[in-house]
Amino acid sequence: MKDKQTPPQKSSHEAIEQQPLVSASLDDFTSTVVHDLQAPLRSLTMFTELLAQEYQDELDEKGQQYLDRISHSGLRMQTLVEDLLAFSRAGVGEQTWMKVDLNQTIELVKADLQSAIASTAAQITVNKLPQILINPKDIHQLFQNLIENALKFCDRAPEISISVVAQGEEWLFTVEDNGIGIAPEFQSEIFEIFKRLYPADIYPGSGMGLAICQKIITRYNGTIWVESVVGKGSTFNFTIPINLCPQSPTAKIV
Ligand code: ADP
Repeated sequence: MKDKQTPPQKSSHEAIEQQPLVSASLDDFTSTVVHDLQAPLRSLTMFTELLAQEYQDELDEKGQQYLDRISHSGLRMQTLVEDLLAFSRAGVGEQTWMKVDLNQTIELVKADLQSAIASTAAQITVNKLPQILINPKDIHQLFQNLIENALKFCDRAPEISISVVAQGEEWLFTVEDNGIGIAPEFQSEIFEIFKRLYPADIYPGSGMGLAICQKIITRYNGTIWVESVVGKGSTFNFTIPINLCPQSPTAKIV
């Protein structure tokens, strides 16, 4: 896994130039639709809970099973909707850029994931990371999704190491784990929206985490890909230009 492959080819220049317009309106559309779905969904979940609390004694075993299914599906749909909203909002809107110390970003991510780290007895090793000019929310989310997956898709105590090297004009970051690994035929598919390799009752999730990572990295003209050996682990690689500077007119540097 240490041998770095050539990253997948970026799309043509023309495709990169046209993409933001299309995805901006798609993001607005998704964000509106998903936002509007939240209210009926909340009401569905609330009334299911009330039904369970107040009419539990009147339901036979079959009725109870149906109610459990409705409740389970409602919660699952809520997760999907929240993650879809996170996807449509990732890396869009007003961008505030600042010099971010990535060592601190990792500390914040570790604090957010504290309970998963403790319950899995995970070891996380971080080599010294640089300071980069970027939107802090984006880079936080990127590392959080990758580290969360490294903790989740593992069948022993997770060992995760995060490092970076400068390669020409780019930083090459790696998040390496000793988890279950990903078969070669799925290694590019997993970056697609809703793509998952296991049912949610085995490994919970919605299949949006890596799609969000991909979206963030594309915004910064970087590339993300994975190298993996089933049963041994995965290394998620992503690049970010060293001399990154905001190109969007709505971006501001603070
Ligand atoms: P989610 O974590 O919600 O399932 P992601 O988009 O983050 O969605 O990941 C998509 C799929 O890629 C996962 O369901 C899993 O099958 C695979 N995957 C992601 N990260 C890892 C990892 N570190 N090790 C093994 N498989 C992974």
